[in-house]
Amino acid sequence: PLAGKVAIVTGSTSGIGLGIARSFAHAGADVVINGLGDPKEIEKVCGELESGSPFSRVAYNGANLKDGTEAGKLVEETAAEFGRVDILVNNAGIQHVSPIESFPPEKYEAIIALNLSSAWYTIRAALAGMKERGFGRIINVASAHGLVASPFKSAYVAAKHGVIGLTKTVALEGAEQGVTCNAICPGYVWTPLVENQIDDTAKARGISREEVIRDVLLAAQPNKRFATVEEIGALAVFLSSPAGQSITGASLPVDGGWTAH
Ligand code: NAD
Repeated sequence: PLAGKVAIVTGSTSGIGLGIARSFAHAGADVVINGLGDPKEIEKVCGELESGSPFSRVAYNGANLKDGTEAGKLVEETAAEFGRVDILVNNAGIQHVSPIESFPPEKYEAIIALNLSSAWYTIRAALAGMKERGFGRIINVASAHGLVASPFKSAYVAAKHGVIGLTKTVALEGAEQGVTCNAICPGYVWTPLVENQIDDTAKARGISREEVIRDVLLAAQPNKRFATVEEIGALAVFLSSPAGQSITGASLPVDGGWTAH
């Protein structure tokens, strides 16, 4: 469904971003991946994505998105190399957990810069071209924490609520020119990051992996299971397809019922 489209997925060297990039490549899009990591590993990932999808080109751009100028350049360089940007997924994000009284200001600034401002800068650079061509899909990976809060995540929750406000605004600005902008709001998703937390938490509490999953991590998630990166990727493909053209300004929870509480 995405043959001939050019997509950027930020923070796609691992986890959810990589899952979205893989789904896009399978759907026939050319994909620019971005993120931190070992260059050899990243080269392998690009090759693997390309070989899984013979008609897709996959390239890497190492922009550090904590810097707004680099975020804008990611879009400009992709447009220069691939001719245009049809689909933009703002996914790169980090977390820090601490009571606000002792929350390090530099962590707060880094989370706002990466999780919120980088999306503003990439959208700012991509929107004019999308409007001109009468087609664009902007998908911001927010979080259940864009809709509800948890204690000790002040920077992350503020940034993710901000992303949802940004999403609604851009949806209105692009509505008449065929550009949609939506937020995907995952609860817990099975990523290597979460996998590592399970073993550490099991050790620290002296309980089983199953107990960690049910009673600690998924306490807020009524269906008691993790979403998968494939599920998030499939939703991103749907939103990017012609069938998604009337969905805009929406925040779509993929959280097993978390925000239904
Ligand atoms: P992850 O740590 O596996 O991936 C984060 C990606 O961002 C990596 O590719 C990393 O290299 C990249 N990144 C980090 N700093 C960067 C920088 N300065 N510039 C460019 N890229 C940078 O995390 P994930 O679990 O896949 O999370 C991806 C997104 O999904 C985040 O925005 C996160 O807030 C959101 N999310 C995750 C979950 C979950 O349960 N995993 C739940 C809700 C929302």
